Amino acid sequence: MKIGFIGIGNMGAPMSANLARAGHEVTGFDLSPFNAEGVSSAASASEATANKQVVITMLPNGDALTKVYKEIVPAAAPGTCLIDCSAVDVESARNAHAAAEAAGLLCLDAPVSGGVVGAEQGTLTFMAGGSNASFKVAESLFDIMGQKSVHCGGAGSGQAAKICNNMILGISMIGVCEAFSLADKLGLDRQKMFDVVSTSSGYCWSMNAYCPAPGIGPQSPADNDYKAGFAAALMLKDLKLSQQAAESADAATPLGAHATALYERFVAQGGGEKDFSAMLPHLMALTRELQDG
Ligand code: NAD
Repeated sequence: MKIGFIGIGNMGAPMSANLARAGHEVTGFDLSPFNAEGVSSAASASEATANKQVVITMLPNGDALTKVYKEIVPAAAPGTCLIDCSAVDVESARNAHAAAEAAGLLCLDAPVSGGVVGAEQGTLTFMAGGSNASFKVAESLFDIMGQKSVHCGGAGSGQAAKICNNMILGISMIGVCEAFSLADKLGLDRQKMFDVVSTSSGYCWSMNAYCPAPGIGPQSPADNDYKAGFAAALMLKDLKLSQQAAESADAATPLGAHATALYERFVAQGGGEKDFSAMLPHLMALTRELQDG
């Protein structure tokens, strides 16, 4: 296929390179110079879009998506499938769909889970929202860039799935960090705690696969001085999206709100670039008196 790829950053570079490696003709555009193997460079987003069957975007936020769609929707040939893999708010995703559909284009919101390592190894999970026809076009590309794709429903439902997943992740990471902090202060050995919890009802991805305690469980950013991984600032972005969505849908998410406040404080204190599992040393440094402050 002839594919345009707009937003070639940490995620977009390996994703576009994987498509090129699989034999697709990929033309990229980014505001900054980029290096993605096998991907040729266009002078503008509209140039990267013209005469393509598929155009993928991988941008930082909803504002960037809205800006880029204003440029690429008029430039796309009729029937082109626009696939947005960025993590953005549901409203921006639905507006992007509406603009694309009004112009006779296919469209999917298809955010990913799996991070930069998943993008490099082609093992991302895609959660897609949009029509069956759009999903059918995109599926073979998801198979190259990822190991699983789920068609979640209509416009915006991929973003809804991503937001809900990451709200669970933020809350569960804080839960695991609180438990390690409490265990330490009760004199319980961290390894023993892991041995019990990872095979008991407290097991979860944050404990079993991405343990925030250094030297415990499989290799994780905690073993590399909390070098991200998945930066706390990005976790905060996703938690804020969950609260924005909960507000507009009138959904009660008290733990989501509290997790957002905790990551907000962590980022305000300079932790934004650290991995989000560095919530453990952050909590360890707090006393009970300071926990809500
Ligand atoms: P990034 O900042 O490395 O890449 C975004 C790229 O978009 C940048 O290179 C930037 O120059 C470019 N860009 C911004 N505005 C543009 C415009 N108007 N036209 C063209 N290019 C533009 O971010 P990333 O880590 O690659 O993440 C991209 C998206 O994927 C985000 O929405 C993020 O939340 C999501 N995500 C990231 C991860 C991760 O671990 N990094 C994991 C899952 C999802």
